[in-house]
Amino acid sequence: MVFANATALPSLYHEMYPGTDLASLSWLEQQWVHWYVSIGNPVLATGLASFLLHEIVYFGRSIPWIIIDSMPYFRKWKLQPKKIPTMAEQWECTKTVLFSHFTIELPLIWLFHPTAEALGMSTYQVPFPSLKTMAPQIFLFFFFEDFFHFVAHQALHTGVLYKHIHKIHHKYSAPFGLAAEYAHPAEVFILGAGTILGPLIYCFFTANLHIITVYSWIVLRLFQAVDAHSGYDFPWSLHNIVPFWSGAEHHDFHHMAFTNNFSTSFRWWDRIFGTDDKYRAYRARVKAAKKAMKNASAEDIKNFEEKLMNEVEAEGIKAEAEAEARGIKAFGKAQ
Ligand SMILES: [Zn+2]
Ligand SMILES: [Zn+2]
Repeated sequence: MVFANATALPSLYHEMYPGTDLASLSWLEQQWVHWYVSIGNPVLATGLASFLLHEIVYFGRSIPWIIIDSMPYFRKWKLQPKKIPTMAEQWECTKTVLFSHFTIELPLIWLFHPTAEALGMSTYQVPFPSLKTMAPQIFLFFFFEDFFHFVAHQALHTGVLYKHIHKIHHKYSAPFGLAAEYAHPAEVFILGAGTILGPLIYCFFTANLHIITVYSWIVLRLFQAVDAHSGYDFPWSLHNIVPFWSGAEHHDFHHMAFTNNFSTSFRWWDRIFGTDDKYRAYRARVKAAKKAMKNASAEDIKNFEEKLMNEVEAEGIKAEAEAEARGIKAFGKAQ
């Protein structure tokens, strides 16, 4: 029970939840009711909850990566082991991300509740949908966002859009967790649409969606984005278990090579459209070299891998300069 006692329930409770027995709700649902009733204004309650959720999950998920970056023990799993972000870089990145959260997201977030309501989304209502209802909806949002990002991200790699918008996100050729949302405000807006539009379109057609499902999706999407930028590939990383999951191993190459691997969560679109050719060639070279150098010292293998990385990065720097110099090129030919 979150209210003092059942007989002292505020009148707003009876207005918002007529006939609902608090005791029949789960702990989380009770907290939900308490949040909406104590704030007293659903637009404010949803806006505040959405903003706080984003801040807590984004920075909360980034903290373990900052700790890992500070511990040499983990270097053996770092994809570009020579490039460890400094504390100054992490702080610089945090400031830019916070600036965009407060100047772009915060003013817009108050529109979320009215838009959601207009489309028939459940917001303050309880009980929550079952996991059986939520899981397929969340998968659909992953699928939609991944394809949206695959297309929009390639567009951002063309001349004018790259030069004036996406170049900021490519400041780090070896990304780190916090750098996931290090981007021009216009990019945050464009690519963020892929996360928000899926649920809104789904709701428009079905009118069967609870905001708790949207929040669960956003939490998972934030984990995906931060982890993909972490710069680490562990034996237990998700893509080593689910081969079509992108993960850091996929996106780190995008930052290092400035090309290929445009999607977020899944590998299939890059594979189907051939925008992973350089990535696969690179992986094949590393694999072949490791096999051929079976008897070489660990040091020699490390040096060889570093040489390959330097080659890929040098090509990437050239490709970036060309992309900037060219005008808007045909879609998909940004490299
Ligand atoms: Zn990019
Ligand atoms: Zn990135």
